[in-house]
Amino acid sequence: MRTQCPKCTWSPTPESEWVCDACGFAGNLLISVGECSECRHIHPNIYCIEWEGGCGESSLLLDWFPDLDEGLSELNIERNLD
Ligand SMILES: [Zn+2]
Ligand SMILES: [Zn+2]
Repeated sequence: MRTQCPKCTWSPTPESEWVCDACGFAGNLLISVGECSECRHIHPNIYCIEWEGGCGESSLLLDWFPDLDEGLSELNIERNLD
């Protein structure tokens, strides 16, 4: 699925890594849709990786998936619409 920063449209690569807030494990949080593959902590916000060319701003996890509305039922994730 396509992923990009909603603020600057920077797109992560499969090698992009975020550090888990809970356990410090580094992994690609967008591939796992916000879930740390180590401790299962869910990250509701994902920051844009500045040192890979992004803007450094944090955005809601679901905003990183521009095609998500089509795939929502498929993924069985409910978007919070308020
Ligand atoms: Zn973790
Ligand atoms: Zn950005």
